[in-house]
Amino acid sequence: MRQHALPAIALAAALLLGGCARTQEPASNQIFAMDTVMTLEIYGDGAQEQLNEAVGTIYRLEDLWDVTSEGSEVWALDHSAGDWVDLSPETADLLAQALELCALTGGALDLTAYPAVRAWGFTTGEYRVPSQEELDALVPLIDYTKLELEDGRARLPEGMELDLGAVAKGYTGAYLAQTLREGGVASALLSLGGNVQTVGAKPDGSPWRVAIQDPDSGQQATLGVVEVADQAVITSGGYQRYFEADGETYWHIMDPDTAAPARSGLRSVTVIGSDGTVCDALSTALFVMGAEEAAAFWQVHPELEVELVLVEEDGTVLITQGLEDSFQLTQEDRTLEVIAP
Ligand code: AMP
Ligand code: MG
Repeated sequence: MRQHALPAIALAAALLLGGCARTQEPASNQIFAMDTVMTLEIYGDGAQEQLNEAVGTIYRLEDLWDVTSEGSEVWALDHSAGDWVDLSPETADLLAQALELCALTGGALDLTAYPAVRAWGFTTGEYRVPSQEELDALVPLIDYTKLELEDGRARLPEGMELDLGAVAKGYTGAYLAQTLREGGVASALLSLGGNVQTVGAKPDGSPWRVAIQDPDSGQQATLGVVEVADQAVITSGGYQRYFEADGETYWHIMDPDTAAPARSGLRSVTVIGSDGTVCDALSTALFVMGAEEAAAFWQVHPELEVELVLVEEDGTVLITQGLEDSFQLTQEDRTLEVIAP
């Protein structure tokens, strides 16, 4: 009997190891899409197939929303001279959600800020500082309430332009996460250019540990780590896309009221929550608002179920109370303050 017992144990051990190896090693890929580097890691059975499908989805959504590419639906809207444009279900869905968030944030998020983004050169990389007259002329063109959306089509007044840069990656992460969950994936980490979307927890059941970047270090140093499962962790920051001229730094997040880079005293805003679109929209909008207004917004909108990490220009880090146990500052010289509900 003993002779048989040993191989049985060995076989069980081998199966266990094999089982571990299967779940521990993700199917992974790194691609460049939506103007950023994306890294996808998917665990479990059938992961490679799911990964290939996810990559295809990203390129498909990019083709719909690339503001500079003539075939995209966003390009069509921006060049429609005031006519209705038919939209794919994904674009209509994203626009509907984003417009609600524009209203919810009092226009701090405004999809039609694109003329300002373009005037400062963020579309082409040919950066410039527009004159005050030029900016004054752009302000009236920024007004999301003029964008009409009905029955899978949209219309924008002639002369106005929109782009989905503030929400596209968050929506894409949420869309992929939903598809993966429906496909039976229990564990995945999708990093869409610093916008992180998680599916489930790590394969071993422990939470994902997502690093939040130090906005003041060009070295991609980590400021802190947040533990999450099934959530998005999305950051907007003045360090992500910017240029310097005459000793000033100008970044890609625009204040719709001035058509100029938002100077609210914040260096970065991270939003953590279960809806990637909401998190992405809010990261941009709260950056425009500044710390005080952002904290007040969070306090009056508990229904959004988001948590925030705000980094101020003086280096102070503010976190909302729900992060007290899951956020860890990795830089000891920083002051940490907690925003109570
Ligand atoms: P994010 O990195 O998510 O904060 O999005 C920034 C991008 O959204 C910019 O590169 C612009 O394309 C666009 N954008 C800039 N300012 C705004 C704004 N106030 N509302 C909506 N979109 C904006
Ligand atoms: Mg955003």
